[in-house]
Amino acid sequence: MPVVVPAFSRIGEENAFAVLARATALAQAGRDVINLGIGQPDMPTPPHVVEAAVKALQDGHHGYTPATGILPLREAVARDLDRRLGVQVSPDSVMIVPGGKVTMFMAILMFGEPGAEILYPDPGFPIYRSMIEFTGATPVPVPIREENGFAFSAEETLALITPRTRLLILNSPANPTGGVTPKAEIDKLVAGLAAHPDVTIMSDEIYGTMTYDGERHHTLLAYPEIRDRLIYLDGASKTYAMTGWRLGWSVWPAPLYDAARKLAVNSFSCVNAATQWAGIAALDGPQDCVAAMMAEFDRRRLLVVEGLNKLPGVSCITPKGAFYAFPNISETGWKAKALASALLEEAGVATIGGPDFGIHGEGYLRLSYANSAENIARALERIGSFLEGNR
Ligand code: PLP
Repeated sequence: MPVVVPAFSRIGEENAFAVLARATALAQAGRDVINLGIGQPDMPTPPHVVEAAVKALQDGHHGYTPATGILPLREAVARDLDRRLGVQVSPDSVMIVPGGKVTMFMAILMFGEPGAEILYPDPGFPIYRSMIEFTGATPVPVPIREENGFAFSAEETLALITPRTRLLILNSPANPTGGVTPKAEIDKLVAGLAAHPDVTIMSDEIYGTMTYDGERHHTLLAYPEIRDRLIYLDGASKTYAMTGWRLGWSVWPAPLYDAARKLAVNSFSCVNAATQWAGIAALDGPQDCVAAMMAEFDRRRLLVVEGLNKLPGVSCITPKGAFYAFPNISETGWKAKALASALLEEAGVATIGGPDFGIHGEGYLRLSYANSAENIARALERIGSFLEGNR
């Protein structure tokens, strides 16, 4: 019998995919299930982006590209960062990867080994911890607290750094909380990091275009003092509703770029060529599609927060970013995972229990509002009736 190496006993998964599979199975069995579990926009990719991919295929872009991605796309990424965030990066520091996840995979592989400590947000994207454990490094959760508006705390983060800390993972706007860390807190963190020059930072800014209430996105790329040890993670999945295309990009400091390139050569070779041309159309094309999507998400965000705060035992702060609400359900008397499971099986509403995002997620549920306003309203009604009937 084939036996894989022990590291595979430590690798985890994303429960969102298991919830999606269960919701789909229930729907196929004839149940009416409303899915607020999945973390992807429910809108289609903008038509001009699809057309660019079709044209690329018709124009004969069928072969391998450079492992780091085609230069016109790396240039488009640099232009986008300049336009949107006012930061300058060289296209030679940009790497095109098959989805945002691949940047975190590479970064964690580069710094994770037994004895190393890696700091990551908790609650946070589950793959951080899973990959850290896979490498044998010690995962060190940085608590993300409701009382801080689900922003990370510079003080608490810095206090967790030890001589063994190799990598610090940051994420704002954040999954699963929708939290956005204010600039003052990032300033404080960067100032404190001066005392820890051997700590590399990976900033996951995949939701960087998704902020509300006039809140601006503050990128870690704007701090020259850490640029030589900053890995910037971004991609097209969320901003341009392109999760299935598998298109991400990252910015690497020079000493790490070649290591990333070698990982690409040893694994995926390059991102699908037509997808890369579609990426150029997304970044350089009209951005009103992004604005329209955000206006729709904003409308739903207010609807979901208002509805959640009317439910017995539930309170929800208004998320400032991404497309998730992270209500506190601790007063309902339910444990989060039991509630998520009961809501799916008995009320036909898919959500994710907070503990699937880390130990500090107990007492919370994640609801994605990437579903129609009508379905969100129906889901809230179902959750309300369920909670009333199961006090
Ligand atoms: N980072 C965060 C915080 C995410 O929530 C996700 C997707 O849900 C990703 C990265 C991965 O994105 P991609 O689908 O581009 O791999």
